[in-house]
Amino acid sequence: MAAPKALVAGNWKMNGLKASVQEIEDLQKLISEKNVHCDVLVCPPATLLAHAIEATKGSSIAIGGQDCHTARAGAHTGDISAEMLKDLGCSHVIVGHSERRSDHGEDNDMVRAKASAAQREGLVAIICVGETEAERDNGQTLAVVTEQVVASLPEEAEAINTIIAYEPVWAIGTGKTPTAADVAEVHAAIRSVLKERFGESGDEVRILYGGSVKPDNAAELMAVENVNGALVGGASLKAESFYGILQAYG
Ligand code: PEP
Repeated sequence: MAAPKALVAGNWKMNGLKASVQEIEDLQKLISEKNVHCDVLVCPPATLLAHAIEATKGSSIAIGGQDCHTARAGAHTGDISAEMLKDLGCSHVIVGHSERRSDHGEDNDMVRAKASAAQREGLVAIICVGETEAERDNGQTLAVVTEQVVASLPEEAEAINTIIAYEPVWAIGTGKTPTAADVAEVHAAIRSVLKERFGESGDEVRILYGGSVKPDNAAELMAVENVNGALVGGASLKAESFYGILQAYG
């Protein structure tokens, strides 16, 4: 079966003011001048979602949220539901990012409930998993990551509305990356879990790599077997560096 079309997704985290939407417009311009052979998604902070959606109308850039609540609506001050993201025009939402797992104590059960809420509303859930440095040093990487994938996948998930992002916690925002061989090993393990879960369609689920992806290492990382794109933090904030990463699929 052919590998799924790659997706490169930008996670702006808690960065960006209204003026930053210009970066998405600049990115759009760069893509229209020289097409790239991957899908492109930008996940700005919630305050910029409406602006970003307006700015990308009619373009090939999709817009997604960085988190959603498990409930559709209700007394949850400060939270945003998957229904609200869908209503705005988002197509994807990131769930279980390691910063949500550590800053907000989100465990696999919570991540699974959030992914389920997203998929119920017709969004694609980008489920993040990844080991800490201590877990890697202890040789627990494969056990931790496969357990996170199994436990974070909703029962009703389908291949079509599921993306897994493998992001080693120690590689996020640090400039450190695993070797291509290490990435290949983890992605192969995730692929096995997905095939066990979805059968043949497990091959259609995109598995993204995330953690210090930059224009100068993207081509090597994206060439690894079972890597179907990237989840990019810091380097997605500027159109030029994000476009540099997209060049891996030029
Ligand atoms: C992320 O937070 O999803 C991420 C991969 O960050 P960075 O690219 O900055 O390491």
